[in-house]
Amino acid sequence: MVSCGANDAPTRAPARNPSVAASPSGTPEQDADAPFEIIDRPIRFDEERTRLTIEYRKAHQGNRIAGMSITPKVIVLHYTDSEDAEATWAYFDRPTISSDRGDVASASQLNVSAHFLVDRDGTTWRLMPETWFARHCIGLNHVAIGVENVGDGELSPLTDAQVAANVALVRDLVRRYPSITHLIGHHEYRAMERGPLFKELDPAYRTEKDDPGPEFMERVRARVRDLELAGPPP
Ligand SMILES: [Zn+2]
Repeated sequence: MVSCGANDAPTRAPARNPSVAASPSGTPEQDADAPFEIIDRPIRFDEERTRLTIEYRKAHQGNRIAGMSITPKVIVLHYTDSEDAEATWAYFDRPTISSDRGDVASASQLNVSAHFLVDRDGTTWRLMPETWFARHCIGLNHVAIGVENVGDGELSPLTDAQVAANVALVRDLVRRYPSITHLIGHHEYRAMERGPLFKELDPAYRTEKDDPGPEFMERVRARVRDLELAGPPP
């Protein structure tokens, strides 16, 4: 598991036909794919997770941070390094991090999560509000929406349906959050240290990531080029 929480029962929230299908101003033809829908399936965001989130923010971003909210500026795409969507959802649902995540557990007890989980057939679940802080990408969590794709780089490579769903989701997010300026893959996050958005107070707290890989990013970027989102600094 690579990575990286909401209450209430799952509710279906049609994503109002995001940009994919019906942009009169002319989105690229290849994006007029299947209908796209976001299904709300919230992970637990109880008092403990809220407290741990604020603690994490104070420790890694600075003491002035007091709340949960973020202004999204970056979309970070990931893969889960597993092929089981249910297990991934259950993993993210826990407020505290598993002790087997030695690499990141020492930095905080806050469990990892992501805002979205995309299954292998393109089914797209929203796990938590997009403007809440999720722990999925060191240095960028305070400005980043995280999208996890079920799969890995070898045995279960990401699918065409996931490419299409990520494209539709990126378009939907950029339409709803004009503050978004960047689209990156998790494996590219270290390069963001050279830009102004990166914020991590512990200079030793870094991990090496290879998800979701350059091929997947290339395929998604090719289909959202008209949005003119920046990648990592060269
Ligand atoms: Zn990742």
